[in-house]
Amino acid sequence: MATDLSKIRNIGIIAHIDAGKTTVTERMLFASGAKHRAGEVDRGTTTTDDDAEEAERGITIYSACVAFPWKVASNPGMPLKQVDVNLIDTPGHVDFTAEVERSLRVLDGAVIVFSAREGVEAQSETVWRQADKYHVPRIAFINKLDREGANFDTLIEEIRDRLGANPVALQIPIGLGPAHVANPFRGVIDLIRMKALTFPEGKEGRKIVEEAIPAEFADDAALWRDELLEKLYNYSNELMELALGGEPIPEPLIHKVIREATVHQQIQPILCGSALHGIGVQPLLDGVAAYLPSPLEMPPVEGVDPTHKAHGKSKKAKEGETELPKIKRKPDPKEPFCGLVFKILPYKTGDLSWVRIYSGTLEGNSRVLNPGKDLKENVAQLWRIHASKKDEQLTSATAGDIVGVIGLRESVTGDTLCDTREPILLESIEFPQTVISMA
Ligand code: GDP
Repeated sequence: MATDLSKIRNIGIIAHIDAGKTTVTERMLFASGAKHRAGEVDRGTTTTDDDAEEAERGITIYSACVAFPWKVASNPGMPLKQVDVNLIDTPGHVDFTAEVERSLRVLDGAVIVFSAREGVEAQSETVWRQADKYHVPRIAFINKLDREGANFDTLIEEIRDRLGANPVALQIPIGLGPAHVANPFRGVIDLIRMKALTFPEGKEGRKIVEEAIPAEFADDAALWRDELLEKLYNYSNELMELALGGEPIPEPLIHKVIREATVHQQIQPILCGSALHGIGVQPLLDGVAAYLPSPLEMPPVEGVDPTHKAHGKSKKAKEGETELPKIKRKPDPKEPFCGLVFKILPYKTGDLSWVRIYSGTLEGNSRVLNPGKDLKENVAQLWRIHASKKDEQLTSATAGDIVGVIGLRESVTGDTLCDTREPILLESIEFPQTVISMA
């Protein structure tokens, strides 16, 4: 069955160390239906095949890319009801800058996790700038609101002032800090629906209870909602006219405006919670589905013709030509295939080379060109690693997808792969600003 590209979300989670990236990742996988929380599985005395399989799955979050379907959970008004998330591992340590940058090249959107206690740190600035460099649309998740000394308002100011960002809060916390303080953190207020969302203990973050906003938070919530709408006026006259005329603003319109402004990197929506307690992770995944782009919305990738004269082969190049002519490839299954190897990891049956497919269709049991090395490679098998079911062998995969390839021998991380008859070298990919136009 053909993949519906509009439903794919290729995302990464990036953060400064200790902000909660691992915890957010585990909670996302768990919320998506993975049987065990990933960090808890790989511990011990598993005996049956099923258990062994599960134990193995415990390390899937350390895989280059893990796939899971996500059904919108907290906000029935969101336009898309289900998406297929490819969660791409980004290195946990910003010292591996080149590796972070490589992973930023293959994802379409990111969740940046901040700790409400530590605020914006030097490392947060580094990852933010890297995401800027690759024009990655992003959602910020303010984590650890249950920690002593957690602050929400200050962090938003810091995101604006230190990162030069345009944060737009879509939620505010209900209370702050741990259970023993007077008004502890216990849920979030959804400023679009003007509802309080709480996450009962013991449900492992699977259940969301929707309530009226507690009276003592009503004024605050109204102020934050006004601020949200005022920010959005900048991106939609329709929304501004409705708001100024005192008309009700349809939720789908709010989602649409947030989505377009986020995809264009004009705003960064802010969501919040406590990943440790499973609070806020489902709305965060809903935000990924609603506001981060699909591969279809990405601009074409650019490369050069490696057979051109400047590479010493083509006879067609004109005298005096200094720059290699650019070739563009759209995220379309019908274009010639091209992709980028971004990680190689050991797997049961050999090395698994992780490939982001930018255009065309990659078939299992086929041959592709590695234009940088000028050699042909075997693509024996294609694999998808799922969070909550067995690894799946695919017969083919199309533009926008990310797959593990078995069979490559010479290709290394950073290499382009392409159709043997339609060479393109993607070496210098820098994502230009997204080019979709505002409706
Ligand atoms: P990473 O370095 O960004 O991957 O951060 P981790 O996910 O490993 O989290 C660092 C520490 O913070 C761990 O001890 C977590 O249990 C803890 N932690 C993560 N999220 C939260 C949270 O929401 N609240 C609290 N109180 N602790 C958290």
